[in-house]
Amino acid sequence: MLYEESEYKSKFPGKTIQNRVYIRLDGRFMIQPDVKAFPLYCTACRRTQPEMYIHDGSRYGHVGACACSFCGAEINVNDGDNIVTFIRTGGREIDFADLYLIDWKYIHAMGESEEAKILQALQSYKGRFVYLDELCDIVARVLEINAKSTHSFCTDKEYSILPEDVNRWINLLYTAGVRLPEGVF
Ligand SMILES: [Zn+2]
Repeated sequence: MLYEESEYKSKFPGKTIQNRVYIRLDGRFMIQPDVKAFPLYCTACRRTQPEMYIHDGSRYGHVGACACSFCGAEINVNDGDNIVTFIRTGGREIDFADLYLIDWKYIHAMGESEEAKILQALQSYKGRFVYLDELCDIVARVLEINAKSTHSFCTDKEYSILPEDVNRWINLLYTAGVRLPEGVF
């Protein structure tokens, strides 16, 4: 099911809308995003939707559809796995490892000893999901950095708003000295 964030909040006031990360630590897939909240784009009028959307399960790969807030065109959303690492919408596959920068390569980019310390700290979470905010806390604690900022990042011109927890994560990467990919600002 697909909901607008405000609709989801009023319908399910107790339910979390936080994004999660699967701590896999198996070499090729060290961490994987499991996304709950994401922006959407309308290919008909070429505008980012003003609100976040909430992924609340899918059926045969179909999450749901909504009407564009500006032109009313239907926006369909599909996914592919139990772990929501990507969605398909508007003829594109949106890979959250890229859109949200939830990828071990950014931890690797922090430096050898930093990576080793974070890996050590994550061992007890192996095979489990943590909230992205929890992962931020673990990394910040291990690196002894304080990454308080309200900067809103943009990683993709079409998907130009990001959930707050993702902004906190990217700010943490930036504060840890990670060179953000070209085009991220
Ligand atoms: Zn539209």
